[in-house]
Formats: sequence, structure tokens, C-alpha cells
Amino acid sequence: MATPAPPSLLRQCPEGICGGTLPYGTPKMATRRAVFLDRDGVINPLIYHRDAGIVDSPFTAGQFTLFPRVGRAIGLLNDLGLPVVVVSNQPGIAKRHFTAATFHLINAKLRAAITSAGARLDGIYYCLHHPESKVPSLRVRCACRKPRIGLLTRAARELGLDLERSYLVGDGLSDMEAGLRAGCRTIFIGKWKCEHCQFIRPRASRPAFQADNLWEAAHLIRSDLQARSARSAKPIEEAAACNVSFAGC
Ligand SMILES: [Mg+2]
Ligand SMILES: [Zn+2]
Repeated sequence: MATPAPPSLLRQCPEGICGGTLPYGTPKMATRRAVFLDRDGVINPLIYHRDAGIVDSPFTAGQFTLFPRVGRAIGLLNDLGLPVVVVSNQPGIAKRHFTAATFHLINAKLRAAITSAGARLDGIYYCLHHPESKVPSLRVRCACRKPRIGLLTRAARELGLDLERSYLVGDGLSDMEAGLRAGCRTIFIGKWKCEHCQFIRPRASRPAFQADNLWEAAHLIRSDLQARSARSAKPIEEAAACNVSFAGC
């Protein structure tokens, strides 16, 4: 029998499967800069599933833990006034690695861990599909599985986010490709290698930054914003200086 799609996602998703797990509001003006986070490998470690011989997402809530300083990193982004939104491919139900109930337990553990660290997630968007899903209802060639940008465009529409002013942090090539396609500034968690460029489209594109972990990525974002505001302030200073000398003539 097919595993039914998780009930809370069905309730909130007009397409029936994927989407945010926060209440939807009316679409807002796309004006806000945000930070999009991949989940596995960025927020929580991947797990080596010895029986299957694969490295993958946690398959149980017990396997789900946060990387060190993730709560503080998200808190830092909160303090910068940036909405923080998780965008994650989660085909584990489709592959029958775990049930919808387990998926919800893991998501609840994520929320609780972030909240208890004094931080806030402004949205969580999951793609549950997979083109070779064992669950027929999830066997979809969808627009939301990264590197496609459906999760990002949907979050932008619903939360009023400006993708071209936003950042995307991920540890996979599909994250970088989705971020690049959406016009975000991308931060790769891990070591970016030249060989990666041949697998990414547009070919030879690369992330804007690389970082060892989310804590470092949050600091890079803070520095980048400071550098940008310094750059944008400069012409005003020059204009002011120009006016002074003009007034003195
Ligand atoms: Mg990942
Ligand atoms: Zn999808």
C-alpha cells in the first residue's frame, strides 16, 4: 500500500505534497533579503547507514542531531534581521527509507532544537518527490527538487523575499546550482574543487564563498553585508564632498 503524503503538508500545500510547514499568509512584496539553508550536511550531519552501505539523511529522529553552533549561527542571522528559510530535498519517504510519521518527528526535533537554542526559522520548505519513487504519489518530476528552484520561488512568493538579494548555503552541487539559477549569492559548505565546476550549470560557475560550517557561513554573510553597505555608502560620501566644494566656489 502506498505511504500517504504527510497530513500537515497535504493540508498546507495546494499541489498536495510539498511546501512550507509554517502557516501561509497572503503573498508579500518581494523586498526582503533572506538566507536559505539546505538541511542535511549544513544543519545536521549526514549519517552512515552501515546496513545499506550509504551516507544519507537521518532515517530516525534518534539519528538527527545539530552540528555544533548551528543554533548560534541561525541566531546571528536572526540578529542581522534576515529571514532564515530551510529548503531541502527529502526523498526518504519516496525511497521508503522512513515513514511520513518519522519525517514529522525529525522535523519536530529540528524545530525544537533551533527554538531551544534561542533562534528562529522563518520557513521550512521540503521537496518530498523523487523521479524513481517507490511511493507512486511521490513519483513526480517536479519543479521543486533542487537543482530546480521551485522551493526558492515558492518561499520568495509566500514570505516576500527577494531572491537576488538573498544567500543560499548548501553542501551539494544541486544546492549551488539552484542558488545560482535563482540569482542568490551561494555559500558552499566544504571544500570547493575545480572539478566541481564541470558538473554545474551554467558550466564553470562557482559559489561566491566556501565555508567549513554554518557558523563560519553566517559570519561570511555578516561581513559581506557590511562590505556591501560600505560600498553603497561611498558614492553618497563623494557626493557630499562634491557639494561642499561646489558650495565653496
Ligand atoms: Mg545537503
Ligand atoms: Zn518536489
